[in-house]
Amino acid sequence: MKSQDIRAKFLSFFEDKKHTIVPSAPMVLKDDPTLMFINAGMAPFKEYFLGNAVPKSNRLVDSQKCLRVSGKHNDLEEVGYDTYHHTLFEMLGNWSFGDYFKEEAIAWSWELLTEVFGIDKDILYVTVFEGDKEDGLGMDTEAYDLWKQFVPEDRILMGNKKDNFWEMGDQGPCGPCSEIHVDIRSAEEKAKIAGKDLVNMDHPQVVEIWNLVFMQYNRKANGSLESLPDKHIDTGMGFERLCMVLQGKQSNYDTDVFTPIIREIEAITHKEYGKDEKTDIAIRVISDHVRAVAFAIADGQLPSNTGAGYVIRRILRRAVRYGFTFLDKKEPFIYRLVEVLSQKMGHAFPEIKTQKQIVENVIKEEENSFLRTLEQGLVLLNRIVDETKGYAVSGEKAFELYDTYGFPIDLTALILNEKGLKLDEAGFKAQLEKQKNRSRAASEMSTDDWTILHDDAVEEFVGYDTLTANVKITRYRKV
Ligand code: ATP
Ligand code: MG
Ligand code: MG
Ligand code: MG
Repeated sequence: MKSQDIRAKFLSFFEDKKHTIVPSAPMVLKDDPTLMFINAGMAPFKEYFLGNAVPKSNRLVDSQKCLRVSGKHNDLEEVGYDTYHHTLFEMLGNWSFGDYFKEEAIAWSWELLTEVFGIDKDILYVTVFEGDKEDGLGMDTEAYDLWKQFVPEDRILMGNKKDNFWEMGDQGPCGPCSEIHVDIRSAEEKAKIAGKDLVNMDHPQVVEIWNLVFMQYNRKANGSLESLPDKHIDTGMGFERLCMVLQGKQSNYDTDVFTPIIREIEAITHKEYGKDEKTDIAIRVISDHVRAVAFAIADGQLPSNTGAGYVIRRILRRAVRYGFTFLDKKEPFIYRLVEVLSQKMGHAFPEIKTQKQIVENVIKEEENSFLRTLEQGLVLLNRIVDETKGYAVSGEKAFELYDTYGFPIDLTALILNEKGLKLDEAGFKAQLEKQKNRSRAASEMSTDDWTILHDDAVEEFVGYDTLTANVKITRYRKV
């Protein structure tokens, strides 16, 4: 089944069960101090759970663009190294706002996976919340008893707070959850470990695909839980992982969500995917990161030097450097992948089509500007590595790379890590703080100057007065 049909099937299954299909919300949040990007399907519906707003229907279904690159859910370091964590991914979700609860959510998830999608029941595992002393919560026996109708008890596993109590962030709506995992190991591989622990949820080929969250609490700023006015269902299924299972692949990157992008990277770089591990990681990273960056821009978040914009810039610079170092691409090429992306995803997410031109331009410009300093920065970095005695690189050196060559700190850390070195991050932060203080002082001085001289609409630039070595004051004269 093609990915496009898988998404459509999910939506129509729940539409038949009286859910209203809604489009994905933009990924970028502008007015939530607790969250920078949508990191889960429930984030756009937060106010409904809290009882502060009323949805147009108490049953919704959607595919939400999510980005997990900062805060409580940050998967950036995994991306490209494993084959099922992305920066941007689609989360398929069905929603009940004070309507149905555990019974329907569990029964329908099972029906969809095993009857509609035809996944073999024998390769599915489910988990149930075991309870938590600190929060004063007991085991979720209700969910356990419901699952028992469908799943043999040796494949219903207990999970702790970390895995089976879902929270968006440090605050906000939350609740116990049940997750569905699929064992995609081959029969031969299972035979090898027969008799031993077959139920190994940490195995990379036992993949979590769907999380059913039973929303009943709100975590307050002081850490305590309060009951929500109503009980709700929030489910999240990783679309790319579902495609992997249904298309019989071992990696999300081998599904038709990614293969068109990967073929394009191969065509542009004359490298082949699947031959060499380093090349493969680079190709996976780039095919992942272009999606995150392109959709962030399409949603209105341009790369910049602060906040959410800097997160996007960091992701793009990471991709540029992987292309530069491992695919020998010394000129911009990532922007050229937007075309395939828009062809593949434009029907489900029209913003990527309508904004295609601007997305390409912004990415190309960003690639250009970073490539201008990347090469020299890498030369300096190699020199730093050669000169480093011991195992840690100082904050001053990392700061020079950041300040002069535009290397985000996580990129420097990543490259050093590849070379078996560590970074003094605290030292780097101290340097950054110093610079902030310098520029704060500078802006105070120039603001003073500006208010005195800039009191009329028309000025003529007469030149700079250099007051100190670092601070330049611009002088204007009224004309
Ligand atoms: P994992 O344990 O694999 O990191 P999770 O428990 O953090 O996943 P949830 O917060 O439960 O994930 O999100 C719901 C679903 O979204 C998951 O079951 C998974 O299918 C999918 N998902 C989560 N993180 C990612 C990601 N980084 N890339 C792709 N899919 C993801
Ligand atoms: Mg996770
Ligand atoms: Mg998990
Ligand atoms: Mg989960």
